[in-house]
Amino acid sequence: KAHPIRTRNGIVNQIYHWPNRTVPYMIEDDAFADSHYREILRAISIIEENSCVIFKPATEMDFPMALVITSKGLGCNTVHLGYRNKTQVVNLEIYPLGEGCFRIGSIIHELLHVLGFEHQHVSQNRDQYVSIQWKNINPQYNINFVNNDNSTAWHDFDEGYDYESVMHYVPRAFSRNGQPTIVPLREGAENMGQRFYMSEKDIRKLNKMYRCPDHV
Ligand SMILES: [Zn+2]
Repeated sequence: KAHPIRTRNGIVNQIYHWPNRTVPYMIEDDAFADSHYREILRAISIIEENSCVIFKPATEMDFPMALVITSKGLGCNTVHLGYRNKTQVVNLEIYPLGEGCFRIGSIIHELLHVLGFEHQHVSQNRDQYVSIQWKNINPQYNINFVNNDNSTAWHDFDEGYDYESVMHYVPRAFSRNGQPTIVPLREGAENMGQRFYMSEKDIRKLNKMYRCPDHV
């Protein structure tokens, strides 16, 4: 069996892409204040404005293959990567707008997991771009610095590694001592770990993943 090509951070296999480039979604009513509900919709709009991907309110007919956005636990996380023939769930812990899971880039980050993107810093070629400082990582979080999914074909859509990606972690992610855990090895990493916007490469990768006719 050939060694899988996992040099990159986007799922290339179309069975993991949302059919018709459409994500039926349901934001749990009682989970969010109006202000937070609107911030989730704003993140959705940013993705829609920059690609051909559409999020549409789910109907009963869409389930189980729909996205549920809720706030039932700590942190911000997404249960599966991409479209998996079962209900997808994003959890967003409540923070004030602009902080934690409610930075606009944090919401976009989770929605890009939903669409099929893994973290940039776990791509197979990352050691050419960042040096992982294992001695500084709180060991219970080591899992966040590896990608053990060898069954998936990953791709960078010819865009390359992207320090500025909203899917990258910050330099001190999961540090146990305040020292850096991810040290960039090249120029251009000033905005590493930013959670303010989709980078240009994030946008192009998404458009290529979903074969958006007007954007690629
Ligand atoms: Zn993530």
